[in-house]
Amino acid sequence: MSAPPSAFGSPAAHYDVVVVGAGFAGMYMLHRLRGLGFSARVYEQGSGVGGTWYWNRYPGARCDVESMQYSYSFSDELQQEWDWSERYAPQPEILKYANHVADRFNLRPDIQFDTRVERAVFDEATSLWSVSTSDGKTVSAKFVVLATGCLSNARMPDIKGLDRFKGRVYHTGHWPHEAVDFTGQRVGVIGTGSSGIQSVPVIAEQASHLTVFQRTANFSIPARNAALTEAERQKFRANYPEIRRFARETARNGIYTELPDRGALDDGDNERRSKYEARWNRGGLTFMSVYNNLALEQAANDTSADFVRGKIAEIVNDPETATLLQPNNHPIGSKRICIDTDYFATFNRPNVTLVDIKSNPIEEITENAVRVAGKDYEVDALVLATGFDAMTGSVAKIDIRGRDGQTLNQKWSAGPRTYLGLMSSGFPNLFVITGPGSPSVLSNMIVSIEQHVDWIADCLVYMRDNGLDTMEAATDAEDRWVAHVNEVAYTTLYPQANSWYMGANVPGKPRIFMPYIGGVGVYRQICNDVAAKGYEGFIMERAESPRKMVASS
Ligand SMILES: Cc1cc2nc3c(=O)[nH]c(=O)nc-3n(C[C@H](O)[C@H](O)[C@H](O)COP(=O)(O)OP(=O)(O)OC[C@H]3O[C@@H](n4cnc5c(N)ncnc54)[C@H](O)[C@@H]3O)c2cc1C
Repeated sequence: MSAPPSAFGSPAAHYDVVVVGAGFAGMYMLHRLRGLGFSARVYEQGSGVGGTWYWNRYPGARCDVESMQYSYSFSDELQQEWDWSERYAPQPEILKYANHVADRFNLRPDIQFDTRVERAVFDEATSLWSVSTSDGKTVSAKFVVLATGCLSNARMPDIKGLDRFKGRVYHTGHWPHEAVDFTGQRVGVIGTGSSGIQSVPVIAEQASHLTVFQRTANFSIPARNAALTEAERQKFRANYPEIRRFARETARNGIYTELPDRGALDDGDNERRSKYEARWNRGGLTFMSVYNNLALEQAANDTSADFVRGKIAEIVNDPETATLLQPNNHPIGSKRICIDTDYFATFNRPNVTLVDIKSNPIEEITENAVRVAGKDYEVDALVLATGFDAMTGSVAKIDIRGRDGQTLNQKWSAGPRTYLGLMSSGFPNLFVITGPGSPSVLSNMIVSIEQHVDWIADCLVYMRDNGLDTMEAATDAEDRWVAHVNEVAYTTLYPQANSWYMGANVPGKPRIFMPYIGGVGVYRQICNDVAAKGYEGFIMERAESPRKMVASS
């Protein structure tokens, strides 16, 4: 059975579970909870479902994991019936898919849109969470699930004069719903991460002039996007059982692809080059899985970084621009690798200028220009492709108070601490989906979302069946997990980069490698083993006068 509708909105409303966020994580969590007979309410600050795909409507926005894989696997009917039009679906199509899922599984009645969760306070006397929302209401819940997203808190850059700018300012992560037409305008794009790299070629086609302000040159691989044929879709559909199994259990990153059996230095120069060439021509994220040691050994990594730098030099006509576009301050793959359509070639257009703001940071923004090294680059509109306060940003915006009134922000002041990325000690019955300490942003995120949702759903059933009321990460288990996450990260080249994985894109944010790099297959096994051992490392208790969870129907 689902949430008690009559109780909705009343100050005394109570749910077994409050879910925060209606992206792919919150939607699937709701579906599972309802199927298991728990009462649940989802709060979403946006006006619709889809999360990332609801907010990121910028030109060129699309997924970079192939759509046949970047999609839910929990319903075979759903994956058999949905037609993806392209290898990498554009944002409007992914949003349409999210809406289709919401309708198909009748999720909307239990989602309250346009409502932010502002506060969640744990009452130790009742073992209940008190959840306050932006509409001034407070409900109680036995469990809270944060499905708030890892890339959902758009980061505004702190640039002098930005508020004085007279033209329109757009953030890629908070794009308007109405169409934005840059035809005839001088546009400035600040930021060259994934969103910048996707949007630059599209904006360049409209704008009279496009100025791209680049602090960090990033590695990008051609997407080779194309329409999917019915035969290609059918091939995937017929093989879905194996493709999904592989993505969950065998792959490190939740993507079905060949597994490399050798290191980059095991091949001679010609052999290696031809393998890189083949992957470059194939396009997409699997470029990085051609060898098994690219993330581990600098010399191996250099071979693939050199290859991509060489490609940039081949594509970009102006040698000075090509040099600026060649990444040289981090190993390839140590920042999320970008997937593009004609990004580097766009700099050959006469209406596109690249400005280096690493050697000369933006001095200020005036009413009509971006000033760099004393020179004004006049623009009519500004696009901020400055990314997100990743992984912890949206959680930190909620005032979460656990045992002894401690806030989660206090606890995480030196960096996030979780057990398995799922719970943080001192905050009973509070789960995070794809939280720091889990593979999360290092993976095909729908694979990781489904794994977390299923694990949490199973755990709640276990608690219900065993009459348990509270569950909490044990401090020592959490300490060991945090140490393990760090230890594994530092066996790789990842921590060398000033990446958002490290919190390095947000001034003042503690530098700690947030996701778990051990791989989704290994991680899933660890989580399953923990559950099989009666949720080892978690403390589970009965309350003295518990409020019963809704029984299975
Ligand atoms: C442009 C872009 C492209 C991406 N492409 C890929 C890809 O190809 N492959 C991949 O694996 N991943 C990709 N990602 C990552 C993507 O975020 C995840 O794949 C996935 O969509 C995350 O789903 P989610 O439900 O966990 O979070 P989100 O989709 O971020 O949803 C979280 C929701 O929670 C809501 N929320 C947050 N705080 C509150 C609050 N306090 N109260 C109420 N509501 C709240 C937000 O409004 C949001 O709608 C991409 C991300 C971006 C930004």
